Amino acid sequence: MKDTSRSLPAKELFDLPEGVIYLDGNSLGPLPKSVAAHVAETITGQWGAHLIKGWNVDDWMGLPKQVGDMIGRLIGAPTGSVTTGDTLSIKVFQALASAVKMRPDRRVILSDSGNFPSDLYMAQGLISHMGQGHELRVVAPDEVEAAITDEVAAVMLTEVDYRTGRKHDMTALTQAAHRADAVMIWDLAHSAGALPVDLEGSGCEFAVGCTYKYLNGGPGAPAFIYVRPDIVGDLSPALCGWLGHDAPFAFEPGYRPAPDIERMRVGTPPILQLRALEAAMRVWDGVDMNELRAACLSLSDLFIAEVEARCPELTLASPREGTLRGSQVSFIFEHGDAAMQALVARNVIGDFRAPNIMRFGFTPLYIDESDVRRAADVLADVMRNRLWDRPEYKQTRRVT
Ligand SMILES: *Cc1c(COP(=O)(O)O)cnc(C)c1O
Repeated sequence: MKDTSRSLPAKELFDLPEGVIYLDGNSLGPLPKSVAAHVAETITGQWGAHLIKGWNVDDWMGLPKQVGDMIGRLIGAPTGSVTTGDTLSIKVFQALASAVKMRPDRRVILSDSGNFPSDLYMAQGLISHMGQGHELRVVAPDEVEAAITDEVAAVMLTEVDYRTGRKHDMTALTQAAHRADAVMIWDLAHSAGALPVDLEGSGCEFAVGCTYKYLNGGPGAPAFIYVRPDIVGDLSPALCGWLGHDAPFAFEPGYRPAPDIERMRVGTPPILQLRALEAAMRVWDGVDMNELRAACLSLSDLFIAEVEARCPELTLASPREGTLRGSQVSFIFEHGDAAMQALVARNVIGDFRAPNIMRFGFTPLYIDESDVRRAADVLADVMRNRLWDRPEYKQTRRVT
């Protein structure tokens, strides 16, 4: 049998600028080489040549589910249980609204203080619109399990904390939610493409995620949503768009949801972004996620050791034990924003999260040990020479 496994790193699959060490794939994945031609062909060979016929002859209409299945293979979801579209915030809203509807006698949505603000905001907006006295209860990450009581309708968590990289135990918390008969929603924004995920094995009802981070789908790439197949047929969608209808082109006046995951679609799919994502997903062909995870932990362990040995000014904000982290490492530094600007000016790209977190993502697809050592050298230089104190690195920017 032909060995189709891909050895890591697979740098040659990406268009990375010469000399750049990219440690920010956790925020925006780099450009896979195959994307530009695939999108160009969609523009000229399909949109240009086929015009409206493209919806049928090029199966644009089937693309959200087809790309959803590619993502599903990476996160342990069965075929036909994932669809793509909209943005992650919208998918969080949809999952949450349907989950709360599944437990009409309960009034609490439980989340944690490590969750991404947009997830919490979507819950706040949903609660105020429903006007039924629901409460968003936000507890510390290590207090979630104890807070899952029989008041809780839905537990909504992001597996990996965007700031610290701390990783929840997905199976254990899903079981705890189910013991209390609560619905479980996982946000996989920092998991899909970063570590092995077994959605089917976890038993959770919903999962959502974005595709512009570790899945390299490009800025504004569509989000994904998974619904456990045994419940999708009874689910009440909150956003009743025509493309979630059972028969969109029957143009019936009344909404009747599609029987399967298609009911989580809303409106017209972003075909160019979906084609970009489709090409980007090919990067994963033959990648063994366990091997990727092992490589990631060895790179991030090395980075921690190098930085701690040479930069006493920095304090590790991530769990020291690799299995308790996602694929990022964060350090606390009072002048972290300026220090990160100094790093970026030296071609080591990470990012900064207020108030004081310097974030570095380790994606073994295109990062290797020599990159990690070089990044640590540059960081040590920035610290030793107080380069962060230069005025040019103290600019405020719209996006950090
Ligand atoms: C990145 C991220 C988002 C962003 O949502 P968008 O709607 O795609 O802008 C939301 N939630 C989490 C947990 C994230 O990491």
